[in-house]
Amino acid sequence: MSSFPHFLVMPYPILGHMNPLLQFSQVLATRGCKITFLITEFNQKRMKGEIEHLGEHMKFVTLPDGLDPEDDRSDQSKILSLRRTMPSKLHKLIQDINALECDNKITCIVVSKNIGWALEVGHELGIKGALLWPASATSFASFQSIPKLIDEGIIDPQTGLPTRKQEIQLLPNSPMMDTAKLPWCSLGKNFFLHMVQDTQSLKLGEWWLCNTTCDLEPGALAMSPRLLPIGPLMQTDTNKSSFWREDPTCLNWLDQFPPQSVVYVSFGSLAVMDPNQFKELAIGLDLLNKPFLWVVRPSNDHNKVKNAYPNEFHGSKGKIISWAPQKKILNHPSIACFITHCGWNSIIEGVCGGIPFLCWPFFSDQFINKSYICDVWKVGMGLDKDENGLISKGEIRKKVEQLLGNEDIKVRSLKLMELMVDNSAEEGQSSKNLEKFINWAKG
Ligand code: UDP
Repeated sequence: MSSFPHFLVMPYPILGHMNPLLQFSQVLATRGCKITFLITEFNQKRMKGEIEHLGEHMKFVTLPDGLDPEDDRSDQSKILSLRRTMPSKLHKLIQDINALECDNKITCIVVSKNIGWALEVGHELGIKGALLWPASATSFASFQSIPKLIDEGIIDPQTGLPTRKQEIQLLPNSPMMDTAKLPWCSLGKNFFLHMVQDTQSLKLGEWWLCNTTCDLEPGALAMSPRLLPIGPLMQTDTNKSSFWREDPTCLNWLDQFPPQSVVYVSFGSLAVMDPNQFKELAIGLDLLNKPFLWVVRPSNDHNKVKNAYPNEFHGSKGKIISWAPQKKILNHPSIACFITHCGWNSIIEGVCGGIPFLCWPFFSDQFINKSYICDVWKVGMGLDKDENGLISKGEIRKKVEQLLGNEDIKVRSLKLMELMVDNSAEEGQSSKNLEKFINWAKG
């Protein structure tokens, strides 16, 4: 029997979950743990097998996701149905692996959210489980608070929507939150009901690991001793886990500019922008009269919205790419600020680069994340919508100028970056938590 634990790591198959779980797996692998990383057959094909060379302690296995080949994998309502066919296949896969690896059987399953059923499968087989929550500890705490919010009549038990307009403070030391911006409110009734069930299953996880630090979210982390901050997860050699091909030329392009002079614009892997808003953004970027690096993902056949650049857009100061090596960009000295959708991974990456943010949240936990940036850490500003519900070109220009002229925000961004570095240093809190977790898995 090996003295190093063998982890089966299984992300919900979207990029914002795969990336942190892959990075976490790499951290475990560098500490001698064995990793079997499970991805769907569809994603394996999509990534053209590139992630399968990430290290000697990491092995990749696949299972079918049970969807039709033409189904849209960016449609959350479709991929939530993995539960229909995958649990029995997972059960068999674990038994097969353990039959082959009698000396180093799977000792622990680590999952991301939305697939709590995988912990149930592990539980049936007598295997320990843990959750790596791919978002903030605060958003985890908000999902855990659902029964209390229902009991107190704050949200409707069937839809999750607020019963009336109000602001609440979910946890001590966390920002006030408009109940209409609770993370499930923008995702529909079915997603809410799914999350209620999933939150129950995830309780089978003995640890709730989060890609955060004790300085970023002390209030939320105090909710339970099972919440273990192990962030920031920042390995940079997992770029190959992208669904789109990265454009490496933008790094050379950035080299020509002075420090803190380029505006980086990216909205992650899922957010889809309305065509009128897209035009407004394009013209707003031109108006900046500054270099900008803008990620515009290629539209796919499922993506009904085809964004067209307005005629008056010239983009002469900018570079538009379809997918960026984002972590490297956010560590490039030329970057001045980050216009972001406030996805948690993007935020952690930006904080680690000491970059000020301009917040443009689209849905789910992105609204709470914005509150942390603007109201708690004070390392950024929000973009406000006009009477037509659009973030206008003038607003974009005004806020970029305000942000870049704000020395206090710059100083706080750099201080926050230092705290992140301290956490992952050898004696840092996140490193100690990681050690504690590995020792638990060995036992
Ligand atoms: N990302 C990237 N290149 C891009 C845009 C995004 O590599 O051009 C990565 C980014 O570094 C992050 C992930 O995609 O790790 C997006 O995750 P996030 O939680 O920010 O947002 P989501 O895509 O889940 O909405």
